[in-house]
Amino acid sequence: MDSRQIHHFFENSVKKNRVCHAFIIHGGSDTTRKKSGYIAAKILECEKSPEICGECYSCRTIPTNNYPDVHLIQPEKRNLSIDEVRDVQQQMYTKPYMGRYRIFIIETDWMQAPAANSLLKILEEPPSYGIIIILARNNKNFFPTIVSRTINLRLNPEIDIPIKDDKALRQISEMFEAAAGRNWKALFETSGDIAKNFSREEIEDVFDSLILMGREHLLQNIESRQFRLPDDAYSGIIKIDNPGILAGLIDKRQYLKFNVNIRIFLTAVALEISSPKWRNWQTR
Ligand SMILES: [Zn+2]
Repeated sequence: MDSRQIHHFFENSVKKNRVCHAFIIHGGSDTTRKKSGYIAAKILECEKSPEICGECYSCRTIPTNNYPDVHLIQPEKRNLSIDEVRDVQQQMYTKPYMGRYRIFIIETDWMQAPAANSLLKILEEPPSYGIIIILARNNKNFFPTIVSRTINLRLNPEIDIPIKDDKALRQISEMFEAAAGRNWKALFETSGDIAKNFSREEIEDVFDSLILMGREHLLQNIESRQFRLPDDAYSGIIKIDNPGILAGLIDKRQYLKFNVNIRIFLTAVALEISSPKWRNWQTR
């Protein structure tokens, strides 16, 4: 499923007046799972349900977690604790303040037996207005009793780009922009800054992210997968959109394992990307 199909699924449940009480939305990426959870909540709570009007109080406040009847629960290390389940239980049996439902969106991948048993009790006798939406990377670590009492909706595979260091990625993006614009002064300055400010390990992480992004970018054109770069600030990185550049990056990535000078390494990568053979690739 993609998030549009999740949309249809909840829309139809409302139309047919067959809304279930517990769901596990799994697969996809952190972003698409959360987006799907909010879509479900909006469909259930919107003034124009099963539509999502986008304007009513529910539609506006659900995504910012300010709607009183939709609760986002983010357990530490994605391990749902018994205390968290008890909180859910306590709030679950309080009637909704303003919505039709009381919805709990829980980002968890696993839970230990005591938490699972408590959750099971809620799943066995949910109040008519109580809804639990579990968002999980996969549903394999849950007890079968939990899985069998929930509707499992699987999102299409998608990877989470590991952006550990946003700042390094931003600067490398700037460096690529400078290279593409043949602005050598800016290119050498930025590569110098990056070499000075980040460790070899940090730069390795960033290059892994870049390679994954490039890979996703190529797949996007082929499979119409849903992939969005984090935001406009990464425009330099968007240029990694042909197989040659990606291959070049993967090739250069190997050098990081050896004791190359980081500044020279970065310059080599930027120059390769700015070289005419890559830029003309699409027009050949
Ligand atoms: Zn609305």
